[in-house]
Amino acid sequence: MCGIVGIMDAGGVSFPLYYALYALQHRGQESAGISTFDGTKLCKHKAEGLVADVFTPGILQGLIGTVGVGHVRYPTTGANVPENIQPFNFLFREHAFSIAHNGNLVNTVALRKEYEEKGQIFCTTTDTEVIASIIVDQLANSANIEDAIRICMEKLQGSYAAVVMLDGVLYAFRDPLGIKPLCIGKTREGYMFASESVAIDALNGTLMRDVAPGELVRIDHEGLHSTQIAIAERRAHCVFEFIYFARADSIIDGSLVYDVRRRIGGKLFEEAPADAETVCPVPDSGTAYAIGYSQKSRVPFMESLMKNRYMGRTFIMPTQKERENAVRIKLNPIRKHLEGKSVVLVDDSIVRGTTSRRIIEMMRDFGAREIHARIGSPAIKAPCYLGVDMPTRKELIAASLTEEEVREQITATTLHHISIKELIEAIGINEENLCTGCLTGCYPVKIEGEVANPCRVRFTKSTFQSHLEV
Ligand code: AMP
Repeated sequence: MCGIVGIMDAGGVSFPLYYALYALQHRGQESAGISTFDGTKLCKHKAEGLVADVFTPGILQGLIGTVGVGHVRYPTTGANVPENIQPFNFLFREHAFSIAHNGNLVNTVALRKEYEEKGQIFCTTTDTEVIASIIVDQLANSANIEDAIRICMEKLQGSYAAVVMLDGVLYAFRDPLGIKPLCIGKTREGYMFASESVAIDALNGTLMRDVAPGELVRIDHEGLHSTQIAIAERRAHCVFEFIYFARADSIIDGSLVYDVRRRIGGKLFEEAPADAETVCPVPDSGTAYAIGYSQKSRVPFMESLMKNRYMGRTFIMPTQKERENAVRIKLNPIRKHLEGKSVVLVDDSIVRGTTSRRIIEMMRDFGAREIHARIGSPAIKAPCYLGVDMPTRKELIAASLTEEEVREQITATTLHHISIKELIEAIGINEENLCTGCLTGCYPVKIEGEVANPCRVRFTKSTFQSHLEV
């Protein structure tokens, strides 16, 4: 899980890239980076930490140019080490090349081996560097980025949304199934690509549309150009983007995430109404769901857990006892709202089950009489190989336990997960066009040792069409 952005704007891009990355901070907190092109060379800065910690006004002023790419990282492939921080920058013959990628390839090992055998060397352990290597290798033969990306996409298996800057031109491409989100926006004096529309909002821009699955889009001084490189029989948008990962105010593949979550909340009430006096979210991930439940049930929405917004990654917890206490510092229950009450507690997902259990125990300590857990995700039964940091089956509480057994573990009075059917209806995209691998254990691409339902992908020979106003 990562956030990517690419901007071309005549007014300069370093501050816009910074604001856009700030809006995408929820997609990765491990590291941040920006590369710009000043007309002759790359200007770049990247480091571990949050966007606000990595950049200063002085650093941003040094990132000169009217085109650039940025990245926030949450590692899924490759360790959390400095050399894996994106964007990756390469000099090739007379060209300057930068890439930022969100997603996870499932054939990284084979591709890396293939290119190592050709004499390619690698500086990182990421799949992103493999993508860059294939493109650069093809550029050497074809001297045409469009063909280089086309051939690269033919080789990649898995999820990828990527932005590439080659000298002063920006490119974005998305895997043929559209697993990870990527959209196009109009800025004041240019255009941009971003993982989520909130990054476009942050720049006062206008969301134009999503990059289509399998599409390659170019932004140059003449505007937008597009070519459909790959055509798949269906799509496989990640359901977890809607459930947890994306910001509620983003519009992804045509759906406002907040609406999806609110609809799921309403459906949670319809599927499993609870006899309760208040509806309380686990902030902030459960809020839109809880509002939906409250609106449908007419049970009052009442925040009974207050979140400390300032608890960052640097929070120091030297002892186990203090670590256990951390949940109290992060979430403080309001005794007056809980004492003697029957409460519907709404959250987006249960992964390992430890968070829900701690919260429920804490609410009981503060006097709650009954706690009815309602979860916006169906039971998570299988790991994700396509870009969401999801643990192994052994660690996933619902992989081996029934809903009743999970209820017992988390000590809730009752527990209900939304059904897959209602989740899909709430998202508003047909089931065959969604990736539900973490819920069903059946994946849209072939993964060794797992069940898959892959679809045919056809690669075209089309060339760029100008879309000045797509
Ligand atoms: P747990 O059941 O203790 O593993 O934690 C589940 C909570 O973590 C949920 O309430 C989510 O808000 C959050 N969560 C779900 N998926 C992820 C993820 N891939 N990375 C980080 N947090 C997550």
